Amino acid sequence: MRKPIIAGNWKMHKTINEALQFIDEVKDKIKNTDVEAVICAPFTMLYEMKKATKGTNIKIGAQNMHFEESGAFTGEVSALMLKELEIDYVIIGHSERRQYFNETDETVNKKVIKALEHGIIPIVCVGETLQEREEDKTKNVVKDQVKAAFENVSSEDAKKVVIAYEPIWAIGTGKTASSKDANDVISYIREVIKDIYSEDVSEEVRIQYGGSVKPSNVEEIMNEEDIDGALVGGASLNPADYVELVNF
Ligand code: PEP
Repeated sequence: MRKPIIAGNWKMHKTINEALQFIDEVKDKIKNTDVEAVICAPFTMLYEMKKATKGTNIKIGAQNMHFEESGAFTGEVSALMLKELEIDYVIIGHSERRQYFNETDETVNKKVIKALEHGIIPIVCVGETLQEREEDKTKNVVKDQVKAAFENVSSEDAKKVVIAYEPIWAIGTGKTASSKDANDVISYIREVIKDIYSEDVSEEVRIQYGGSVKPSNVEEIMNEEDIDGALVGGASLNPADYVELVNF
């Protein structure tokens, strides 16, 4: 059985004080322990958030990391540094990073390998643009992204990875893929993983949907057979919405 995982992606929002206030508001309301509740926050607040969530059901993730452990990479943060903070998850290859920060399939793969080496679970984002969808290329695009992300990852490690299928046209736009369409692509991703590894691995990997998920549509999305969770941007910033999402 795959444990559902609802992860907030706060992007470049909130100060430390705002984050701590948020945790204070939600921590006793996250009742559904059958669901993993994660918040992926900016680097500046990770240390304080780890402290503030000790003994709660909330896990903390980062939104990016470098694939080297240390070196002359001004402005970057490594897996080793995240491990020191006991960070549980890290988002890798979000479409905003692919679009604005030159993230490529190759760097995504290097980061996935490095995160796993340090016991941090990567949430690997894949998804097509609107143009690719209209040209009927969705499955080929996600297949290439998934294959590249798993290159040289052992089957034992592959089972730990979380994939977030996020159609780019649905991120922050208020448009969602229909739950059926999302499930269709996600079950295809499971097929791709089966081809790379085995049925066993493909049945263990958790695959989220992301793209304008909110309290009003989370249940329908989570009812789909192959969808194991959601990666949520905008709606995860609001404490009441986050509680509703996690307790869907
Ligand atoms: C995201 O940032 O991964 C995302 C899905 O954003 P939103 O929920 O705002 O569409």
